[in-house]
Amino acid sequence: MKKTYVLANWKMYLDFDESNILMNQLLLEEIDHERLEIVIFPSTLALSEVEKAVRDTPFSLGAQNVAWVPKGAYTGAVSALLFKEAGASYALVGHSERRYVFGERDSDVRKKFEACLEVGITPVLCIGETKEDMDEGKRQYRLKKQLFSVFNELDLGDTPFLIAYEPVWAISGSGEGLACTPADVEDVHLWIKQEMAQYSKNNVPVLYGGSVNSENVVSYVSLGSVDGVLVGSASTTLTSFTALTQAIVA
Ligand code: PEP
Repeated sequence: MKKTYVLANWKMYLDFDESNILMNQLLLEEIDHERLEIVIFPSTLALSEVEKAVRDTPFSLGAQNVAWVPKGAYTGAVSALLFKEAGASYALVGHSERRYVFGERDSDVRKKFEACLEVGITPVLCIGETKEDMDEGKRQYRLKKQLFSVFNELDLGDTPFLIAYEPVWAISGSGEGLACTPADVEDVHLWIKQEMAQYSKNNVPVLYGGSVNSENVVSYVSLGSVDGVLVGSASTTLTSFTALTQAIVA
């Protein structure tokens, strides 16, 4: 059975203890892991401790951001290699908060994507247009550019990776938190899949992210073009996250 991806991006919402408490609470919940591929993205500092809790369970772990070199004189950076060694099997690459708050360029995103492939971490490439792009009619232009900069002349072979479509304006906290309509998501996802055909012979999973919660999640995951969701704030409490996972499998 094809699983629905549910990626829980805890961002910097939870401190060390809160991360461990939430993870241990989630482990006690009845979650349908046969139907859901759940990946938790804790803060970098909490990841190793959360890893001890999820070891030998169906939960996977991911990094929220990676440096593009494995080791070296890069103060404050944490590489894909180090995350891999700490137990992460996925990494977000090019999240809009990295692009627009921390100034990551398309060229940085490409290097991070390649760094993940090199060490065998599954990258989750986040793409999305800003409100200004939308106002200027540049949605497709932005997405095309973000995809081209990562995939142009990249030999992907059968290496697994995911794409998360996250309109910046739809993200809660850093964006305006206006969830994209399902009809709009369907259109954009179909376009992304079509666009990806020139870069990969495989059917690349495309997830939606932006103010997803237990009330709207079914309207997205029931769409043929949506392979899962990337969830920020609604993944950071036990009640909101379990309600969301239950809604998908109900
Ligand atoms: C995100 O930042 O990836 C995200 C989807 O956040 P939220 O669900 O809080 O809008």
